[in-house]
Amino acid sequence: MIKNCSRIGCSDSDVIKQVDELNANSDVHGILVQLPLPKHINEEKVLTGIRIEKDVDGFHPLNIGKLAMKGGEPLFLPCTPKDCLELLSRSGISIKGKKAVVVGRSNIVGLPVSLLLLKANATVTTVHSCTSDPESIIREADIIIAAAGQPMMIKGSWIKPGAAVIDVGTNAVDDPSRKTGYRLVGDVDFEEVSKRAGWIYPVPGGVGPMTVAMLLKNTLESAKCSLDRQNLWGLS
Ligand code: NDP
Repeated sequence: MIKNCSRIGCSDSDVIKQVDELNANSDVHGILVQLPLPKHINEEKVLTGIRIEKDVDGFHPLNIGKLAMKGGEPLFLPCTPKDCLELLSRSGISIKGKKAVVVGRSNIVGLPVSLLLLKANATVTTVHSCTSDPESIIREADIIIAAAGQPMMIKGSWIKPGAAVIDVGTNAVDDPSRKTGYRLVGDVDFEEVSKRAGWIYPVPGGVGPMTVAMLLKNTLESAKCSLDRQNLWGLS
């Protein structure tokens, strides 16, 4: 079910009202607020309004707070960051003791993925727009997660041979040869980087579909927990 609050003039309370309706609807097991919200809407207020047991996108401040706490166990993990760790795990790449560099520190990808890698015992460096000489930092990395939204910023010469590279960036660049007039590229120069990396996940086709799978997984878990609660309390 999609609730559209994109009309001009839509206020915090309009969005929160929609969220409240979904909170109260027992047929709904997961709520995803598509971020980023327009600047005039208070994102934190809206995310805090989601019932924690329906926060399948994992962005409720309580879930993010628990992710940041040593020993904290969030009810749900944000989908794209969870997906990055799942890709590493399924590829048999161990994280413990590795040097990981995350490019980007947004609430949606960079920050939570850095926290997840820390929890998995990597030594994590976060690169952002004010970082000087990102190239020399990335060259040291065993694991690179690119989430800057900068088309093909990471070049082959920046990669330690054998490193694992997960490209989250999804950027539209002009391409007059396509019917659409554009094509999607990642933050990584795939042609160059694939020659040095041990593992690389392409854009499109890598992280994107897995993010959808993680969202479905979180929603299924939420539905199961809801059933368990109903059974426990004898509700039909
Ligand atoms: P944001 O624009 O919110 O954040 C970008 C981050 O990258 C910021 O922390 C910014 O630093 C940093 N950054 C920007 N330019 C540079 C640079 N030149 N060098 C180093 N760091 C830089 O983007 P999102 O995190 O929302 O998304 C990042 C990318 O991932 C986008 O391309 C987006 O489309 C894609 N994405 C893909 C998803 C998927 O499922 N496949 C899901 C979500 C996002 P600072 O904080 O200093 O401004």
